[in-house]
Amino acid sequence: MATTTKSVFAFEEGDGKDKQLLGGKGANLCEMTQIGLNVPPGFVIATSACLDYLAAPEQGLPAALMEEVRAQMRAVEEKTGKGFGDPDNPLLVSVRSGSAMSMPGMMDTILNLGLNAATLQGEIRATGDARFGYDAYRRFIQLFGKVALGIDDAVFDTAFEAIKRAAHARQDVDLSARELEQVCERFLALVREHTGQPFPEDPYQQLELAIQAVFNSWQGKRAVDYRRQFHITPEMANGTAVNVVTMVFGNRGEDSATGVAFTRNPGTGENRLYGEYLVNAQGEDVVAGIRTPKPIDRLADEMPEMATALAELRDKLERHYREVQDFEFTIERGQLYCLQTRNGKMNATAMVRTSVEMVEEGVIERERALLRIAPDLLEQMLFPRLDPGVVAESVAQGLPASPGAASGIAVFDADRAEQLGREQGLKVILVREETKPEDIHGFFAAAGILTSRGGKTSHAAVVARGMGKPCVAGAEGISVDVERREARVGLTRFREGETITIDGTSGKVYIGAIATVEPEFTAELSTLLGWADAHARLRVLANADTPDDARRARRYGAVGIGLARTERMFNDVERLPIVIEMIVAETPEQRQDALDRLLPLQRADFQSLFEVMSPNPVTIRLLDPPIHEFLPDAQVLEREIADLRALECGARGLGVLAGAMGLLHAEDTLRHEVDRARRLVEPALVEEAIAKKEAMLRKVRLLYETNPMLGHRGVRLGITFPEIYQMQVRAILEAAAECAKAGIEVHPQIKVPQVCTAQELRMVRASVETIHAEVAERYGAPVAFRFGTMIEVVRACMRAESLAEEADFFSFGTNDLTQATFSFSREDAENKFLPLYNQSGILQDNPFDVLDRKGVGKLMELAVEWGRRVKPNLHVGICGEHGGHPDSIAFCHQAGLDYVSCSGPRVPVARLAAAHAALAGRP
Ligand code: ADP
Ligand code: MG
Ligand code: MG
Repeated sequence: MATTTKSVFAFEEGDGKDKQLLGGKGANLCEMTQIGLNVPPGFVIATSACLDYLAAPEQGLPAALMEEVRAQMRAVEEKTGKGFGDPDNPLLVSVRSGSAMSMPGMMDTILNLGLNAATLQGEIRATGDARFGYDAYRRFIQLFGKVALGIDDAVFDTAFEAIKRAAHARQDVDLSARELEQVCERFLALVREHTGQPFPEDPYQQLELAIQAVFNSWQGKRAVDYRRQFHITPEMANGTAVNVVTMVFGNRGEDSATGVAFTRNPGTGENRLYGEYLVNAQGEDVVAGIRTPKPIDRLADEMPEMATALAELRDKLERHYREVQDFEFTIERGQLYCLQTRNGKMNATAMVRTSVEMVEEGVIERERALLRIAPDLLEQMLFPRLDPGVVAESVAQGLPASPGAASGIAVFDADRAEQLGREQGLKVILVREETKPEDIHGFFAAAGILTSRGGKTSHAAVVARGMGKPCVAGAEGISVDVERREARVGLTRFREGETITIDGTSGKVYIGAIATVEPEFTAELSTLLGWADAHARLRVLANADTPDDARRARRYGAVGIGLARTERMFNDVERLPIVIEMIVAETPEQRQDALDRLLPLQRADFQSLFEVMSPNPVTIRLLDPPIHEFLPDAQVLEREIADLRALECGARGLGVLAGAMGLLHAEDTLRHEVDRARRLVEPALVEEAIAKKEAMLRKVRLLYETNPMLGHRGVRLGITFPEIYQMQVRAILEAAAECAKAGIEVHPQIKVPQVCTAQELRMVRASVETIHAEVAERYGAPVAFRFGTMIEVVRACMRAESLAEEADFFSFGTNDLTQATFSFSREDAENKFLPLYNQSGILQDNPFDVLDRKGVGKLMELAVEWGRRVKPNLHVGICGEHGGHPDSIAFCHQAGLDYVSCSGPRVPVARLAAAHAALAGRP
């Protein structure tokens, strides 16, 4: 099909902004030409021509396209004063691929095209350099042979090595002109052998075949795999452009060179040219690593004028693109050419530093400095990560349950972890099949947690995230043997004391130690986030349960606590028994007794949270445990009871045996032994222990819930056992009063979980007010507080109007709200059907990772609208895990929320994302 639209654009005419049409490389070659940089003359064949051709490749390139190409070649001939195929003054070109998305090394480039027997001689005459001519020719034959004729590279390499060996040459440069000529002859013969045809001599035939080959490389396996791997969709890049560029030669002697550089250091962000170059070489030599390039600093000594020219090029590139550039250059006999530029890829540290410095230098303005950084990237800076320079093979893959990397010795139970970690100061990784609340002391002592079972919401994952410790969960390839203190992974094993490394960001597990890079909250990051805060409307609070969490969150810039989960405070070796007593209490008095012991502990908890966060608000959620999390396992209890029974039985047996021995006149020493053993076990004590365990088992069975997540939790617990919430409210208000007395400004907020009717809220509120009055009277001064509700039940959204009458604020708990909206239990969904749902496109994303705007988001919008109808100044925020994810934050901004609350380490991400949300849609 003949195309009537223009498909080929000279560098002087192509639209430098149109990367879809011209590819990234082509668009930038046009742009650089148009702003007056020294780019060798050339043109771009558009991606649209590639797609047209690929629709019917058997028909070859359309005649009309080749017409355009010929016209453009004539223009290049004019600009260079050379002739394509002219033996007296040959024009040589490169044919280069380049799509809208950079796919480094995935598609092909051919250099020195236009050479044949005749033009080769012309080139040798023109340069007076036979060695150079043959070197260029053999490179061309090999590249063209491989890319356009499909001959295996190794065919050429083997022949080349043989000639090198025969000539006793160590390096390519050791070969003479004569020897290179031999190489060319051998290569031409190889092409004939492999294709049954002579090497194409006609430059236009060469060009046509080369263009087709580059087009075809778009569908090559390498390129297709790459696009799949990096999720490059047709919307992002469709087809490759072809760039035809006049050759310039960095291998024309000691006054020539080639190199690649970043306008700033991509590892540190330092404002200094960073890169390397090779004297007397072609571009591919730098990449191929045939010779070791020199650091760019050396250029100032070797070619001072060129160093100045390069510094100018660098400034022009940055001032124009207003972004760090990664560029290719070639120096041909004292002339500097720029062959390619693109935005530099950098790590988080470098992105942040360059953002701040480019603003200070006046290269960009603050908005751009914020917008050029993807918020998620900042997470890199806030967790230890594996040293990117280390190559290591992982032995198992689990879920990336809590980000960060850690090395330490493997330890298989919490007590050992505490012993080795806390007491002996060793770095330990706690390795368990799964963890339970009673393992909590092991978490404190460990540098990281690894489990072989459980998902991203397993106890291990949730607790580790809360503590900001790395965790890999559900690494099913590992089988843990606690008894033998070892774990098996495939054919290897690791024992207690052996060092392992986990990467909670990727979910990978390694045997041995791998160096990690520590997180840093740099001055630049703090400056940048200060700018972010100035643009953002959403305020960023933190989810924090302990003073340590709170301190860290504050350091990261949180302006309050949006969620303090009191059940987390109970996960402590000293408190857990009291909490269990409270739960299993048979009478109100027993329960009160446990609560009385918990009250001072909780008051101290809250007081230190208030102190750390003063004068910012601290939102405390009243207890919301799935009760089973605190109780011993029924099966374990059953086993223990059985063991005790066996013991009792054994004790009785010993009694009988002792009697029998007397009758049988057994030896004294034997009788003595039996007697001693009998005395070791006091049947009455065993009885008592059994009775206790049985009582507990009865209670556990009584409290058993078929579906604890939908069971007796949250405010339902608070209503059925009002004394629990009363204790907590008292602790909160007394802590606030204590702080106020000490002159510390506090803003306590009390939040009720799992509410579905206004009546629930009203009942809790009434008791809060009673206690408030009591505390005010006792301390002689009232402490102001705010009272609000979690919105995490669908009905709560629907009843937002009446809830707003009882609440000063709403706080969306989007983890539970998502479960409730989809009727998905998260753990089951993620482990069973969600992956398939995502693969088959039924759901675009995992709604537990990416807030579901259409469903959950719609409910949120309704609740905000209805709530504010009743109470226009209703304060609304989000405290689910989504609160730390940029896309969800953008939604919260649009939905008119006042704040987001997220885990401490996500606070910087959220601050930047909140600024992005506010800046979205601005030019
Ligand atoms: P890639 O995208 O893999 O980097 P390129 O098209 O940029 O491929 O080219 C490969 C190498 O050839 C680069 O080092 C580049 O600088 C060099 N090169 C490409 N075109 C020319 C040219 N016209 N003159 C000199 N060197 C060139
Ligand atoms: Mg390149
Ligand atoms: Mg909840």
